[in-house]
Amino acid sequence: MAQDEAARPDHPSLIIRNIGLLLSGDINAPILDADTIETTGGRITGIGRARDFETRPGDQVIDAKSCALAPGLIDSHVHPVAGDWTPRQNQLGWIESCLHGGVTTMISAGEVHMPGRPKDIAGVKAFAITAQRIFQNFRPSGVKIHGGAPVIEHGMVEEDFRELAEAGVKLLGEVGLGSVKDGRTAREMVAWARKYGIQSTIHTGGPSIPGSGMIDKDVILAADADIIGHINGGHTALPDSQITCLCESCGRGLELVHNGNERAALHTVRVAAGLGQLDRVILGTDAPAGSGVQPLGILRMVALIAGLGGVAPETAFCFATGNTARMRDLDCGLIEIGRAADFVLLDKAQHSAGRDMLDSVRLGDLPGVGMTIIDGVVRTLRSRNTPPATRLPEILAG
Ligand SMILES: [Zn+2]
Repeated sequence: MAQDEAARPDHPSLIIRNIGLLLSGDINAPILDADTIETTGGRITGIGRARDFETRPGDQVIDAKSCALAPGLIDSHVHPVAGDWTPRQNQLGWIESCLHGGVTTMISAGEVHMPGRPKDIAGVKAFAITAQRIFQNFRPSGVKIHGGAPVIEHGMVEEDFRELAEAGVKLLGEVGLGSVKDGRTAREMVAWARKYGIQSTIHTGGPSIPGSGMIDKDVILAADADIIGHINGGHTALPDSQITCLCESCGRGLELVHNGNERAALHTVRVAAGLGQLDRVILGTDAPAGSGVQPLGILRMVALIAGLGGVAPETAFCFATGNTARMRDLDCGLIEIGRAADFVLLDKAQHSAGRDMLDSVRLGDLPGVGMTIIDGVVRTLRSRNTPPATRLPEILAG
């Protein structure tokens, strides 16, 4: 058992017992041999067997009823705007709806759907800082949104990136969605961003919607952004030969999105597997885009890749959890002592032909979400969006 004694003051804890399958999020060891997790103060403080933990007055106890537990899912690619509203599809409550699909963390690839989004440099910076603050302060149903991702424009200088970083901006929006579409300028600005600790993502493939642009492998390799955003297109993918070249020619993140080309996603997975580099694969939805919001988009990507991509389902879950956490330097996404206590409890859907949850995902079925937990706090019980789980966790005390 792993336990952090220092983090176990008299503080009430959350203890989740009777976990039937513990998915770690770690691609090197995707399944943990344990059935109990303890959290204190929103952090994981113990991982082990039920007999190793004592409950004290005030502790909350959950019986997982043999369901699977995974780190809360991370959507590596969303376009939030303001609050829980998207003007792109004029929809309210889309983030909360994704929580019912097991997503507890979202990464902004740019707040590009904001009506009247400023494109002058002062406006770009002011809007990015505002978006960073808004989403730091506002968490719909507890979902963590890493927002404030400016889209680079011609005329930006190194000082702009230093200023953004000092103001708390940690991400660039998709390179290529602004006026900078050439490799040389993108490379210079991406390097400035990196110098000041700002992570970068580049748009890949054809235009997503009118006004978006085409970015091919030469621009992507020249720009050298940290994440090759939707390498499977959004939706229009590059030719397979270019995707293969991107996988082989650099070590950057390979992001696959739901609002992309599914065949190209599977091609990317096969190439990454052949290179022994599945640790580079991360998942997003690109919601809300022309294809809209998919509350179950990350689960659908896991089922697609496990069902048709020749990847073990427990490994596919790592693409939506630990791989993203490591690549994006997040404190969640892995079942490890000290990490954020963000979890999703799952079981096979009722009447799935699969033997168990993982087997059902291997057959391409979506699992049922029975509970979500963020920072050690239960946020939702049975999902209103997934097919109903066969078994459901139960809150016993607290
Ligand atoms: Zn894009």
